Amino acid sequence: MKLCFATNNIHKLQEVQTMLGDTFSLVTLAEIGCTDDIPETRSTIAENSAQKAEYIWEKYGINCFSDDTGLEVESLNGEPGVLSARYAGPQRNADDNMDLLLTKLVTSDNRKAKFKTVITLVLDGNYNQFEGIVEGEIIAEKKGDQGFGYDPIFLPSGYERTFAEMTMVEKGKLSHRARAFEKLNKFLKEL
Ligand code: IMP
Repeated sequence: MKLCFATNNIHKLQEVQTMLGDTFSLVTLAEIGCTDDIPETRSTIAENSAQKAEYIWEKYGINCFSDDTGLEVESLNGEPGVLSARYAGPQRNADDNMDLLLTKLVTSDNRKAKFKTVITLVLDGNYNQFEGIVEGEIIAEKKGDQGFGYDPIFLPSGYERTFAEMTMVEKGKLSHRARAFEKLNKFLKEL
């Protein structure tokens, strides 16, 4: 079955294709002729994820899935959340975003945070969502140079290294994205 993954990130696409195996053949946005800037204007990660899948389904009538991820910090009422990519401004700079977050938490005793990924799948107009969460805390200073985004300041619970101090394989075993995609994979295999 053909399934469109509503992403322009070729790295994500390859990773997910490997996970899904041969049963589903993933097509890109470019392959379905979509060069649009797909809107992400809703106020939660789950809603933004649904908005992207809905856009593709309604405009192209193609079975598809989309993902949306954010970091939610407890003492900041879930910030940066849907703003994770552009927390410090439209330049979407990871260092600026981390610096802003560290400044906001400077006097905070509660540094609990979680990464959340929500995948929305649309099959013949039927919607399903799959959530992956990894709990942890925001440390006071950046550590490590692997990964991307907020990885240098995120210490997953039960570990002594930040995501940025882990290899891609290590992070891939416990990450929010991996957990959400495992659920999607299981659902698709059971169809
Ligand atoms: P996206 O929905 O996957 O594009 O993620 C939105 C934003 O969340 C990214 O631009 C990053 O700032 C942050 N983010 C998502 N996944 C991760 C991760 O695995 N590590 C660190 N930051 C992440």
